[in-house]
Amino acid sequence: MKTEQAATNLTDGYCDCRFCGTRLRHSFVDLGMSPLCQTHIAPEQLNHMEPFYPLHAYVCHECFLVQLDEYVAPGDIFSDYAYFSSFADSWVEHARRYCEAMIARLKLGAQSKVVEIASNDGYLLQHFVRQGVPVLGVEPAANIAEVARGKGIPTTVRFFGQESARAIAKESGQADLLLGNNVLAHVPKLNDFVAGMKILLKPQGVITMEFPHLYRLMERNQFDTIYHEHFSYFSFYTVEKVFAAHGLTLFDVEELETHGGSLRIFGRHTENAALTVTPRVGELRQREIDAGFTRLETYFSFAEQVRETKRAILEFLIGAKRAGKSVVGYGAPGKGNTLLNYCGIRSDFLDYTVDRNPHKYGKYTPGTRIAIYHPDRIRETKPDYVFFLPWNLKDEIAQQISYVRDWGGKFVVPIPRVTIF
Ligand SMILES: [Zn+2]
Repeated sequence: MKTEQAATNLTDGYCDCRFCGTRLRHSFVDLGMSPLCQTHIAPEQLNHMEPFYPLHAYVCHECFLVQLDEYVAPGDIFSDYAYFSSFADSWVEHARRYCEAMIARLKLGAQSKVVEIASNDGYLLQHFVRQGVPVLGVEPAANIAEVARGKGIPTTVRFFGQESARAIAKESGQADLLLGNNVLAHVPKLNDFVAGMKILLKPQGVITMEFPHLYRLMERNQFDTIYHEHFSYFSFYTVEKVFAAHGLTLFDVEELETHGGSLRIFGRHTENAALTVTPRVGELRQREIDAGFTRLETYFSFAEQVRETKRAILEFLIGAKRAGKSVVGYGAPGKGNTLLNYCGIRSDFLDYTVDRNPHKYGKYTPGTRIAIYHPDRIRETKPDYVFFLPWNLKDEIAQQISYVRDWGGKFVVPIPRVTIF
């Protein structure tokens, strides 16, 4: 059985592992061809062609990093990025709690320096600024950095790596706290990025990073969090190896519920033994080993699980449409686009979708070209089903549009399995 599975997943690799350089030979999941998830289509582009790229994830048989090839240059992805973190209430609240916890734990004050990589519109750093802690945001998208500056948050427009780390350290000093949330997974040059963190961190400083946990992605069937902008998918086992290779030790880790299940890792210089390694580190590492994350077969079972999920989603949609029901989407997030394109869901299944981000109104989802409206549209058209694309915000959305129940409308969540409530 094992050899049969291994043979099924053996493919001709054309790229090398982003971390250890091994030629990639094993398929994790192939989601077909997909457009970039943030390139929403304007009405005047509807008659134009659209580029599609392979969405095929591999697993490295040496370090077990699950990864996509860099099909698209980051400059094309991030230069006018449409994601504004401040549009998700629960995410801003998550950031506020984090800032309070870090100020207390690291005793941060007016003498400290907090640097955030991929600081977005300043939704997180604003909480440090309010407490009088000096900050610097590093953000590659100029339009988003401008919004942050407008809120009084010093922000430099840069991609992060060794070169920019040296420049930032020279211009404004090293960091007591260096953080990056949902950026590590989006970095094409992983080694350059982590080496840059080593350069920018004070000798006694602390790094924290949050990213989706591969363990949860597989356990909870979150294949739609795989998209082109998301290059790497980490287990704790693998991320620990990556940091260790650059002289950084992970001394603590927390498991969070954000983005369907994330890790928050705490790193320090390996030389700084003053921060002792907590038991949580060894416990999580062992739990992953016990769950099979150091064996290829564990990774090979995922692809069929994904194909079965597609069949179940289509089964629901076909059944609803045959019964004459109307179905609309909620949200137009990156993950929604992977799901819509992989499953082939267009306006034949979803009449339209809505989003709270006004930058998306009047546009269409990439590839599938479903119209995006203001959430009020749901109240006007009274659909039978609202299909949630950002399932990680399920409770928040169900609350925001609870009025759907007034006309007997129901909510549908596609992941981990189709659930109607
Ligand atoms: Zn590798």
